[in-house]
Amino acid sequence: MRYVDELELRGKRVFLRVDYNVPIENGKVVDDTRIRRSLETLKFILENGGIPVVASHLGRPRGKVVPELSMKPVAEKLKELLPEYRIIFSDSIFREDLIKQAEKLKEGEILLTENLRFHPGEEKNDSEFARFLSRLGEIYVNDAFGVVHRAHASVAALPRLYPPERRAAGFLIKKEMTYLRDAVKSPRRPFVLLLGGAKVEDKIPIITNLLNKIDSLLIGGAMAYTFMWVRGIPVGKSRVEEEKASVTREILRKIREKGINFELPVDHYCGREFDKNTEKIYVSSPEIPDDLIGLDIGPETVKLFSKYIKEAGTLIWNGPMGVFEWEQFAEGTMGVARAVAESPGVTIVGGGDSVSAVNKAGVAEKIKHITTGGGASLEFLGGKELPGLKALEEE
Ligand code: AMP
Repeated sequence: MRYVDELELRGKRVFLRVDYNVPIENGKVVDDTRIRRSLETLKFILENGGIPVVASHLGRPRGKVVPELSMKPVAEKLKELLPEYRIIFSDSIFREDLIKQAEKLKEGEILLTENLRFHPGEEKNDSEFARFLSRLGEIYVNDAFGVVHRAHASVAALPRLYPPERRAAGFLIKKEMTYLRDAVKSPRRPFVLLLGGAKVEDKIPIITNLLNKIDSLLIGGAMAYTFMWVRGIPVGKSRVEEEKASVTREILRKIREKGINFELPVDHYCGREFDKNTEKIYVSSPEIPDDLIGLDIGPETVKLFSKYIKEAGTLIWNGPMGVFEWEQFAEGTMGVARAVAESPGVTIVGGGDSVSAVNKAGVAEKIKHITTGGGASLEFLGGKELPGLKALEEE
């Protein structure tokens, strides 16, 4: 794959696909993290004489104009963040006048288009729409890792319209690739996979894809109860996905066969009801009494998992260890987040919940890599081909 620093940008208009899917309240951007993250690539283009035409999706307007999902507040934010450049916002819903605006751009100017998903062609990966977008830039750069798993026009059909020497990935995707690809291809050992969250199904592809590579697998969160239940360990009224029994059994068989260290919770915090204010009950054994629901891993489990985490050469973490949205059942997830922060290994955290946990624990800056695309990183680690990356890589 080519990266933006390998392209000749001077005097060229560059279509830059970014992920500006930011929260907006009362016409204002309330969290500009994603916009700030895009600045490295954007500034690189500007400083090397390129003229950026920047485009993103925002929310789910489903092919229609939804005024609350306009990119206008993003343009205002960009003006604040890049006062030395002229930001031009176009409210054209991808009509000819947008092309005219792009063609008139001069060095030092940035054109921001409206929400790509206002056009029905975007999510349909429509080739007509892609052809239209290709007239906005002579060069194509994608830095929206959060959407590379989507076969959408600006991500998949569009880059194919450019020859390889005129398309590239930006620095955000470069960083994702370096961490995720290296972790899968040549992990530092021991390689530890830590999974949690509710849905076994989402994590099955990761486990299956990495089974040949990992040294240890640690499972917490609701997922753990399905594994325990299949093993015949009483789980009380905890959440179990009975329909996942056979695939779980298959995974357990492979884990044994490959000699992978495998750990499940050895103690729990439980409640009588699935309720935020339910009384917090400590269960000091792996077995959960009939009338209780497992809602968090216990302190002995945090200790056990932390031992592996702190010795890891490479660690991938996805999914919370309990119902961490509820203060009383957040201890396990926070404990694990702190252990990940203390690990000297290459630590990679993905998924909205785990990312918000490391933020809440105040340890985000100690994590080597926090992935910017939860869904995309899950699919990448699950061995799936990502349409946005494939389109960039084709020769
Ligand atoms: P997922 O999207 O599969 O990563 O699941 C994330 C969700 O799992 C979070 O909203 C947690 O509240 C939930 N979760 C974690 N542990 C448990 C548990 N023991 N029981 C029920 N839900 C849980």
